[in-house]
Amino acid sequence: MVVAGTEAGERVLSEAASLLRDATAEQLEARRAMRDAARERLETQNADYDFPEDWAANLPETLDELFWRMELARCVQCGGCTNVCPQCYCFLLVDQRVGEDAYERAREWDSCQFTGYSEMAGPPGTVKPDPRREHMSKFQHRFAHKFWYSPLMLGALGCVGCGRCGDTCPGAIDLRRVLSNVNKELAEHA
Ligand code: SF4
Ligand code: SF4
Repeated sequence: MVVAGTEAGERVLSEAASLLRDATAEQLEARRAMRDAARERLETQNADYDFPEDWAANLPETLDELFWRMELARCVQCGGCTNVCPQCYCFLLVDQRVGEDAYERAREWDSCQFTGYSEMAGPPGTVKPDPRREHMSKFQHRFAHKFWYSPLMLGALGCVGCGRCGDTCPGAIDLRRVLSNVNKELAEHA
């Protein structure tokens, strides 16, 4: 089922009109039922977590807390959490040779958790600038992006609460649990 979300999307759909047909009432009902079931599952699986409402405003107060360092100690920077996340989209451009005189520019998945992710070009012989060189700043950035910058820039959270990141993480770092810990810290600071 295709739904246009922008004027450009409407144009694409109108150009492809001959390939499309209207959804039936049964299909629309099936979509509604699937959405309701997904929403119910998410509410159930996230019921035990306590997300801070004013997290972004109070984030600086928690940045140095012990629980961040304990979570960080379990992160091996594998990038699994970002690769399975339906909301993560960072990519890397690579140029590669694909034939005698043929090259292609390819888009590969990247992860903000990788060493060197935010490294930038710099003068030869110097240390390349990297605004997030420290592992901790990369780790905390993932939370800040999803729960602070995304609402600010896009008006929506960068996390749908699916729990995939916690399931795939070799260190069992569950973003929802860490956020709940932030909430506890904020309550203790209040
Ligand atoms: S719980 Fe949130 S951050 Fe984790 S994989 Fe799902 S959408 Fe991504
Ligand atoms: S999956 Fe876990 S260990 Fe791997 S980068 Fe993400 S938080 Fe770190």
